[in-house]
Amino acid sequence: MTHIDKVFLETFGDTPTIVAAAPGRVNLIGEHIDYSDGFVLPFAIKDRTFAAIRVRDDRKIRIASAQRRNKIIELQLDSVKPGLKGEWERYPLSVVWALGINQGMDIMIDGHVPLGAGLSSSAALECSVATALNHLFSLGFSLEDLARLTQKGENEYVGVPCGIMDQSVSLMAHAGSALLLDCRDLSTRNVSFDVASSGLELLIIDTQAHHSLTDGGYAERRASCESAVSKLKITSLRELSLEQLQQSRTLLNQTEYLRVHHAVTEMTRVLHAVEALEAKDFNLLGQLLNQSHASLRDDYTVSCPELNVAVDAALEAGALGARMVGGGFGGSAIALIHVSQTAQTISTIEKAFAQHHFKAPRFFTSLPSQGAEIIQRA
Ligand code: ADP
Ligand code: MG
Repeated sequence: MTHIDKVFLETFGDTPTIVAAAPGRVNLIGEHIDYSDGFVLPFAIKDRTFAAIRVRDDRKIRIASAQRRNKIIELQLDSVKPGLKGEWERYPLSVVWALGINQGMDIMIDGHVPLGAGLSSSAALECSVATALNHLFSLGFSLEDLARLTQKGENEYVGVPCGIMDQSVSLMAHAGSALLLDCRDLSTRNVSFDVASSGLELLIIDTQAHHSLTDGGYAERRASCESAVSKLKITSLRELSLEQLQQSRTLLNQTEYLRVHHAVTEMTRVLHAVEALEAKDFNLLGQLLNQSHASLRDDYTVSCPELNVAVDAALEAGALGARMVGGGFGGSAIALIHVSQTAQTISTIEKAFAQHHFKAPRFFTSLPSQGAEIIQRA
């Protein structure tokens, strides 16, 4: 019996009908541009969230998480609508709502993606539930459909204005590859992401910092991009070249100009990063990571002291490149390092954090892993 079966049995006194798993993600490059119709280059990490579900013959929903002491939350299916108050269970319920499920269920969650570390435990949770429901009820949704529906759930039901990247990569990633995702039409290309054969690895540094600016700061950045789009009379920043931006600079205020400058240059960096990966030119990839970080720090202003210290310390210890990842104002950074320098890099970062009196960071590494899948079906 697998672990998720065991907790399901202990919690609900029965066995699940279906179990699905979906991973968290790290975005190699292409930050804060999914909502501007840009290209992004994330990969799925090995840590995944499991969702085990059993249908009921009434209209009751019972839901529990191993990360929330298996406490059962019980409610009526008909009450599951945006506006219903709640805590963590709003994430899986947002999927039940967005997929239009019309049947009672018991749902057990067991997540192995660190929560709130910028590794998208929220998308892992949503996509594990969505994958299980899609198969359980033979809904026939494509992966693109599921990405759009889970994003809609997080936007409208949970109330988080996230872009489309996290759910897309959690659903569509392939082991060994980063996923070049065009956020305009959700078309994808798998780009082989093999740093190990060059003696390198990607170190993930969870700064454990969470600055309260997060929600308002994210919305404010999106609003700046939207007002620039309307002033420039275009439909998205994807249409804009750097040249065109310079020519129309006077139409924008200084803040809008800086935000758009990040978006336009970041989209180009993603395409260069794909070329660098294909050519196994990891020095170039490192430089692109550094440029991305500088752009997020200086133009988009979503970094924070902890992220900057993590990046600077990693570079001081010999990293080929490093940058903040995710929404910013805390969360994680990544550093492309030589495997032989892992211990030294970690200790340099730890020392720098201690000197600044920051909370101690946590470290992870991960190879690019498989997207969501059905683990077992009764
Ligand atoms: P991130 O997606 O970067 O981890 P978010 O704040 O977007 O951070 O999502 C984290 C939230 O998702 C948690 O606070 C919790 O509400 C919910 N969550 C994710 N995984 C689980 C889980 N395994 N059990 C319960 N809640 C979870
Ligand atoms: Mg999230």
